[in-house]
Amino acid sequence: MINRRKFIYHSIVGATTLHFVDTAYAASQKQQKNNKNGGPIIVSTWDFGIAANLAAWEVLKNNGRALDAVEVGVKVPEADLKNLTVGKGGYPDRDGHVSLDACIMDENGNCGAVLAMEHITHAISVARLVMEKTPHVMLAGEGALQFALENGFQKENLLTEESGKAWQEWLKDAEYKPIMNIENQHFSPNKLPGNQYNHDTIGMLALDANGNLSGACTTSGMAFKMRGRVGDSPIIGAGLYIDNEIGGATSTGVGEEVVRTVGSFLVVELMRQGFSPEDACKEAVARIVKKKPEKAKEIQVGFLALNKKGEYGAYALQEGFSFAVCHEQQQDLLIQGKSIF
Ligand code: ASP
Repeated sequence: MINRRKFIYHSIVGATTLHFVDTAYAASQKQQKNNKNGGPIIVSTWDFGIAANLAAWEVLKNNGRALDAVEVGVKVPEADLKNLTVGKGGYPDRDGHVSLDACIMDENGNCGAVLAMEHITHAISVARLVMEKTPHVMLAGEGALQFALENGFQKENLLTEESGKAWQEWLKDAEYKPIMNIENQHFSPNKLPGNQYNHDTIGMLALDANGNLSGACTTSGMAFKMRGRVGDSPIIGAGLYIDNEIGGATSTGVGEEVVRTVGSFLVVELMRQGFSPEDACKEAVARIVKKKPEKAKEIQVGFLALNKKGEYGAYALQEGFSFAVCHEQQQDLLIQGKSIF
């Protein structure tokens, strides 16, 4: 049941300063955000996570498996033509090809991924089939497409009228430039013109009634990227990681920086050491700043984590990162993530 239809947007002023970066984090004694009554919970990145969580909740509320919930959930933004950074509505690479990256991971450490796959909207479902039907973890490009077609997926043209127009517009200057936090523009009356929206990902983590965790992550990656570029999102340990003893983590933002730090694995390992989900995400962001201080003010990277107890937390480099939370008490909560800057 949906308790409150109204979206709740918590604004947390995260005005921490850069000296934080050098601070080592001890295990947090802070009170954690969680689902107070226990039970299933779903968290996912950005405002489009609200609709995705609702679909996933239909599975979890009926005692379904977290793995099924995350697949069903992230298929919502994959199919949403208004979503310009995930699935079918996603912007193309610099040569006009829409190529998708996705991965999925279950409670037993099973995982599957597709990298730079073209012509198939539901990259997450192909990733799940890679996990379940092949001896491999990752299939890329043509091979991923061939596998999808062999398994009954239909070949589609993913370059929509809107993404085609945006690409034509981009070609005028042909400058590759990540623009941060496009999804939060949904809340802003001063939206950027469509052709400036250019990256974000749905990462979703779920804990089911049996206490099992799974996660999914899917994206069209950075708009106008080089052909064949793969980000963090389909890389197990970077864009997504699940350890059913501890918790799960997922990321969004400029994937190159997340890959360098194996960000989601790092977040889970920090939780193993006793960090709260939020502090683990904060430390992972801090590692990125330490490695590339010159880039850190220009780009966005955010992590979202959920532990085995149903506690969750997030942290991002910049303000503007949001994440959606869904559990028995409330299915449409949107939280403004904290930022280092
Ligand atoms: N992480 C994605 C990538 O690098 C993009 C994003 O989430 O903003 O492909």
